[in-house]
Amino acid sequence: MTVWDDLVGQEKVSAVLDAAARDADALVTAARADEPLPEASKMTHAWLFTGPPGAGRNQAARAFAAALQCVSPDRALGGTPGCGFCDGCHTALLGTHADVTTVAAVGAEILVKDMRDTVRKSYTAPATGRWQVILVEDAERLNEKSANAVLKAVEEPAPRTVWLLCAPSVEDVLPTIRSRCRHLNLRTPSVEAVADMLVRRDGIEPEVAASVAAATQGHVDRARRLATDPAARARRAAVLKLPLRLDEVGACLKAAQELVDAAAEDAKQLAEEMDGRETEELKTALGAAQGGRLPRGTAGVMKDLEDMQKRRRTRTQRDSLDVALGDLTAFYRDVLALQLGTRVAIANADAGDALDRLARGSTPESTLRRIEAISACREALDRNVAPLLAVEAMTMALRAG
Ligand SMILES: [Zn+2]
Repeated sequence: MTVWDDLVGQEKVSAVLDAAARDADALVTAARADEPLPEASKMTHAWLFTGPPGAGRNQAARAFAAALQCVSPDRALGGTPGCGFCDGCHTALLGTHADVTTVAAVGAEILVKDMRDTVRKSYTAPATGRWQVILVEDAERLNEKSANAVLKAVEEPAPRTVWLLCAPSVEDVLPTIRSRCRHLNLRTPSVEAVADMLVRRDGIEPEVAASVAAATQGHVDRARRLATDPAARARRAAVLKLPLRLDEVGACLKAAQELVDAAAEDAKQLAEEMDGRETEELKTALGAAQGGRLPRGTAGVMKDLEDMQKRRRTRTQRDSLDVALGDLTAFYRDVLALQLGTRVAIANADAGDALDRLARGSTPESTLRRIEAISACREALDRNVAPLLAVEAMTMALRAG
């Protein structure tokens, strides 16, 4: 077992990262901590991980972070760094390593104030670990100001600092940043590879694993969530029932409202799990007496936290809606496949009856139009159109007949 085992269907990427981690390890072991990287090293200061949603770009970056912090004694005996078990690996994977900083977008954008402390930290030496690792998930959400702050830091890295940026594609990152990064592209893993991983790692029944892997088409996290979370399965089942219900205007409007409500409910659930605890933790950190007033001058910090939580709620709602739209797209793709008689694997075999009925009751042209309507809805949501408005326009366009 190594940290690379969790990267499903990414053998090439794992090999490159493994080689880099070995060089990085040899360097820290042999050299003085402030020595620059040698020219020939397979290690470098900035990496860009790209790939379609669900292929595991964040996981790849995190596995690499773990390998860089690995302190397993086996390394000296020729073992590869990234054992997965030592203190360095373990805390890096958990996200609690003092020298692995993760930045994730909580809203539509990563603001410069979200990056300020991290950028400052990137100029310092690691505290206890071997490298100072900065992992930016959603690097495509850096805005102009925060991207420029990152660019400056990537241009003049401290000797032991490594930036790991994750984004859907290279086009999502400023050219000036990506030209300084080594680029690794992850592929969508095969349905078989995902199913195999669910059985091997998560102990899922082979039949269930095969079905959720097919339904999510190589999206590892979604597949795992569907296999383990009954609520997620119920939501997907409800989404797949929608197409047959959309026969008149009233039904379309109702369906739109349900989709938006389900996403809002998802966001509310997450907020309930996290907001209260975060607020209490911050209050404790600020030294509030129990039930008493917060010390002077801390209102701004509390306000920042509330702003962040509000942005996260909006983002979660949009992400959850996007999952539903993805399920709908996969459904109509299956309809199209049946209509064209292509031999591609059907993603939603469990919705076979509905697929058959729609395939027989409509033309390939109308199915294509419906798939386009879903894309248009996603684009509208990206442009911050009010969710209900965008989804209503979509369900009207999906109307059967
Ligand atoms: Zn280790």
